[in-house]
Amino acid sequence: MSRLIRAIIDTQALRHNLNVIRARAGRARVIAVVKANAYGHGLVSAALAIQDAGAFAVARLEEGMSLRAAGITARVILLEGVFSRSQLEDAAQDQLDLVIHDTRQIELLEQTGGAARFALWIKIDTGMNRLGFAPRDFPAALKRIRMLRSAPRELRLMTHLACADERDGEVTRAQLERFAAACEGLRLETSVVNSAGLLCGAAPDSHWVRPGLALYGASPFEDSTAADFGLQPVMTLVSSVLTVREVSKGERVGYGGAWTAPRAARVAIIAAGYGDGVHRSFAPGTPVLIRKQRAPLVGRVSMDMIAVDVTGIAGIDVGTPAILWGEGLPVEEVARHAGTIPYELLCSVSQRVPLEPR
Ligand SMILES: *Cc1c(COP(=O)(O)O)cnc(C)c1O
Repeated sequence: MSRLIRAIIDTQALRHNLNVIRARAGRARVIAVVKANAYGHGLVSAALAIQDAGAFAVARLEEGMSLRAAGITARVILLEGVFSRSQLEDAAQDQLDLVIHDTRQIELLEQTGGAARFALWIKIDTGMNRLGFAPRDFPAALKRIRMLRSAPRELRLMTHLACADERDGEVTRAQLERFAAACEGLRLETSVVNSAGLLCGAAPDSHWVRPGLALYGASPFEDSTAADFGLQPVMTLVSSVLTVREVSKGERVGYGGAWTAPRAARVAIIAAGYGDGVHRSFAPGTPVLIRKQRAPLVGRVSMDMIAVDVTGIAGIDVGTPAILWGEGLPVEEVARHAGTIPYELLCSVSQRVPLEPR
């Protein structure tokens, strides 16, 4: 029986990537970003594999609580903070750090007291216009936090870069200037860069770096792959051939007959479809790695299957493995064919796809 689609997770590669990141981070400490189920790699198992990262960041309270339930004692930061009293209490119980990006969150702390239970990260919006206090509102927010009845255990400052993946860096420079101006004279620790900012060397003097994508062995840049930075892919999404068929010139393949064989062709039907997270936006020509060769996807992606033109590739039979992305086929390359970014492909691998250690 051939094995259906699965995501092989190489925790060795994850640890390797953490070391590459550490070397780049210099004296800054690493906050490993494990939101969205560790970008699809399995929240708890990924975090356990890199426990020595020293700090983790997640988007939701439940994710932070899962890490604690799994016995992880490292610092865990809630990137969006909390939104209610009960969430605040849960976060305190589990000793989760809070990002404070909105005055409502300061009000919560004022009303409930006990800010001493928390390390707080005040987020300054330096141009992303998503979360955070505008530089002109930040001094008032800081003042309110400093006037809380019980002082937070720690107080730090952060911001997020909108365009760190762009080579020219003008937007990033402006954001860094605004951040430096807001932080001036405060002597508080700071955190600025994501993977792109770290890999391109923005903000070399901040105290904490926040890589996500790079940890998983993918590049955030359009024009480079992870290997250029010495990073290794952590996830390999692999399935196998369900059947092989010979089609003659002029025959059409798949829904809508969207592909017409331009010549006699061998087509492998592979057990992977949009039900697994292989999106329907995967364009004809998207490479699939089979017997170490890139074979082009033909026709439309179905729920459970794709068709690949394997004409001229020897040794393909029922059960032959086919890699959708990962080892030997960078997820960045596949993402370009799918009109998306590696982030989206990695974290939309669906529930029915088992994650297996390598
Ligand atoms: C997701 C996220 C990161 C990590 O971004 P990558 O591009 O994956 O490195 C860092 N900081 C914040 C605030 C985030 O939301």
